Amino acid sequence: MLPPTLTNQDHSRSLNQNRYVYAVLSRRSGGVSIGINLNPDKVCNFDCVYCQVDRRTPGGDRRVDLNVLDGELRNILRKAKHGSLFTEPPFFGVEKPLQKVTDIAFSGDGEPTTYPKFREAVELAIRAKHDAGLGDLKIVLITNSAMLHRAKVKEVLSILDRNNGEIWAKLDAGTAEYYRLVDVTKIPFERILRNLTDTARLRPIVIQSLFMRLHGEGPDEGEIKAYCERLGEIAAKGGKIKLVQLHTVARRPAELYVSALSDEEVDAIAARVGCIPLPVAAFYSGH
Ligand code: SF4
Repeated sequence: MLPPTLTNQDHSRSLNQNRYVYAVLSRRSGGVSIGINLNPDKVCNFDCVYCQVDRRTPGGDRRVDLNVLDGELRNILRKAKHGSLFTEPPFFGVEKPLQKVTDIAFSGDGEPTTYPKFREAVELAIRAKHDAGLGDLKIVLITNSAMLHRAKVKEVLSILDRNNGEIWAKLDAGTAEYYRLVDVTKIPFERILRNLTDTARLRPIVIQSLFMRLHGEGPDEGEIKAYCERLGEIAAKGGKIKLVQLHTVARRPAELYVSALSDEEVDAIAARVGCIPLPVAAFYSGH
């Protein structure tokens, strides 16, 4: 049997025997994103109804062994630099145009900024990319925005700013009520909006939003109107939004009453965001 090849349908957090470092193939970004999972215990301060993390099986150790993480990251970066990465599974067989590493992404089975040694992990990744001769490689922080007000997290964001970092921050709603329904957290919606605004005032950010059907019903007109108003308010207060990534459910969600919007419904929301006006990219369910 041929060894499995990484595909853009495969978003598992596992890669060979690695504990923390995995890989995701993205046709849209034109290559392989190297993921770092700082939450192997699968604990998150949100409990999104669409979350793709499989919490039916127990998580791993809460503690992250940074030495192991460092070794895993350096190993994959070294192979990327010297061209051997795409000669071995699961990268062997990836189409030629996609045979490149596009970024390192902090995105795991929980919220990366809650990891107590988040700064050490980011500094480790910066050193590793420079040592591999890949100093220009982008480092993406994928975050639910809840901790961006913390002084320690702000310091890490500044470090990322100086090292080709990019922040992809979540906003899934226009009203507090819908936010609580889909993101299922006690963290106030106002804090998310304030964090997004304050963070985007200091550097351009990407906003990631996911809309879906709940029990067969998509978000109503009032919710989409409110969502566009929140985006507009962030921009009006000086927040720089470089892109809004509009997603729907593409993989098995946490709750079975959650399902994907059609491509046309995603496009309709994207058109509304485009009218704010803000740059927008739509991502479909693919089903
Ligand atoms: S913030 Fe991310 S990891 Fe946490 S529950 Fe939501 S989708 Fe899952």
